[in-house]
Amino acid sequence: MSRTTRRYKALQQSNGGGSLPGCDRVRQPRARVLLLCLLGVLVLSLVLGFYLSSVADSRSGDRVPHTDLTKDRLSHKPSKCHPAQIRHLASQVDGTRLFEAHLRPILIERLPGTRGSLAVQQHITSSLSSLSAGWSVELDSFQSPTPRGQVTFTNIVATLDPMVPRKLLLACHYDSKVLPRDPRAPEIVFLGASDSAVPCAMILELATSLDAQLKLFKHQTFPVTLQLVFFDGEEAFEEWTDTDSLYGSRHLAELMANSAHPAASVHASMLQAVDLFVLLDLLGGPDPLIANHFDNTARWFDRLIAAEKRLHRQGLLKSHPSEQTYFRKDVYLGPVQDDHIPFLHRGVPVLHIIPTPFPQFWHTLDDTEENMHRPTVENLTKIMAVFVAEYLGLTT
Ligand SMILES: [Zn+2]
Repeated sequence: MSRTTRRYKALQQSNGGGSLPGCDRVRQPRARVLLLCLLGVLVLSLVLGFYLSSVADSRSGDRVPHTDLTKDRLSHKPSKCHPAQIRHLASQVDGTRLFEAHLRPILIERLPGTRGSLAVQQHITSSLSSLSAGWSVELDSFQSPTPRGQVTFTNIVATLDPMVPRKLLLACHYDSKVLPRDPRAPEIVFLGASDSAVPCAMILELATSLDAQLKLFKHQTFPVTLQLVFFDGEEAFEEWTDTDSLYGSRHLAELMANSAHPAASVHASMLQAVDLFVLLDLLGGPDPLIANHFDNTARWFDRLIAAEKRLHRQGLLKSHPSEQTYFRKDVYLGPVQDDHIPFLHRGVPVLHIIPTPFPQFWHTLDDTEENMHRPTVENLTKIMAVFVAEYLGLTT
């Protein structure tokens, strides 16, 4: 018998059965039952709470936050710039600075592991470090066997805020191709203006023209940040094969897949934190035709089309005959092997900004600054500036 029953009996005896109204006598056992029920519910909720928290703990080491990153990426909505904001973004892109300050120092022979490569690395890192937004610049140096022996490669990775959960990644390659010299003019070397000095200069100009907005943006609590990657070793030393090409991107994709994201609240790899991998290549020549390559990023390709149209309608593009000149969904000439492949194969969403067909001077000594079309380079940079500003929701 329990203590509760004994106390009940004692209470009955002390009341003598007469002074207590009948209804109270009936209520007292019910109150006891109610109390027991409440205690039961309390114990059950404690047990259930403990079970649920232990289940959540066991999952937090792998799956759940990944699902959140994917869900957040898929539901990400860009902002829409007003005409005045578009005008302001376009006015910040400086074609003279792009060609003279950013492009010229890259237009040298820059084979991986050489003095030329080191000079270009220093140009890129010092340009980014001089900006007020405060980029975290890291070098990913490694050695790899090549048909020419062991070579040192160095990728450059600049992140606006490494502690932010998700990243919009803009990429290009800064190495140049080994190309046989013309015996009649042995002093002429391959400079790869469109392949890919101009895309590198465009990315540097984007970071420079958006510097004030990116500095402000960094102090906001936004879940996406900007990351810039300058790959080394995209080019094959001899014939393009799976092992003689994409040295830098293969190394970085593997490194990012095996590195934990530093943002403490997110249990994911650096690769899973990439919302969108935007690769710029072979840009700089006149009349580029840029097709959409991937269905899963088609909505972002649509944003490029929309940015081109709006800039055109506002009269902010030069030598631009119709509102949809560059970004086209009605043409497709097949897939292109490029630095996105190691990322694509690991499930990263890709936007490949490359003209097809390739420029006529592709992989020839004529891929020079003289054959670049400056208004096209400026126009494409303005389109990218609107795209980045809208993706990140920059205040302009
Ligand atoms: Zn190339």
